[in-house]
Amino acid sequence: MHSRLRIIQGDITRQQADAIVNAANSSLLGGGGVDGAIHRAAGPALLAECRQLAASRGGCPTGEAVLTGAGNLPARAVIHTVGPVWRGGGQGEAELLASAYNNSLRLAAEHRFATIAFPAISTGIYGYPKAAAAAIALRTISQFLQQHDYPQQVWLVCFDEESYRLYRQHSEQSD
Ligand code: ADP
Repeated sequence: MHSRLRIIQGDITRQQADAIVNAANSSLLGGGGVDGAIHRAAGPALLAECRQLAASRGGCPTGEAVLTGAGNLPARAVIHTVGPVWRGGGQGEAELLASAYNNSLRLAAEHRFATIAFPAISTGIYGYPKAAAAAIALRTISQFLQQHDYPQQVWLVCFDEESYRLYRQHSEQSD
């Protein structure tokens, strides 16, 4: 695993990173899971900004990412990305999941963010198998870090014990 990548267990809304990533849906208008938790913790300013973005650019397509402020969160910015809904694996899900990570990292690099925290995108309501998603997250982030100086550190924030265990297992395999 890349030395600038950390696996931690916790709540992403509490992370003092320059940016935290939201596993949003393409409407950008809020949802359940980590999206709901981020909006609850950030307060109405974030929802207002997302509504403006939804109106001006019609949301965010799957695999892409957009940046907003962070309202009341300890982070400075939120990068909203939309992971794929799992439909059995034959609908380009792996490529779309890698794009969600890559486009989020690209935004962080453009803004010279030192630290960015990711949830396990697509592995909740969107149903992506957790082990396969962990392998893609680790590989995609490690490749990006090899090619870029920013972000300086990436935190993979696991909310549930299972994701934490899977990330650790996969990171040991790829060492
Ligand atoms: P998706 O719709 O992309 O599947 P979800 O929010 O349903 O997004 O789930 C994505 C992952 O985020 C899941 O692994 C879930 O356990 C995790 N998650 C939920 N709440 C939080 C939180 N507060 N901090 C970090 N991860 C969270």
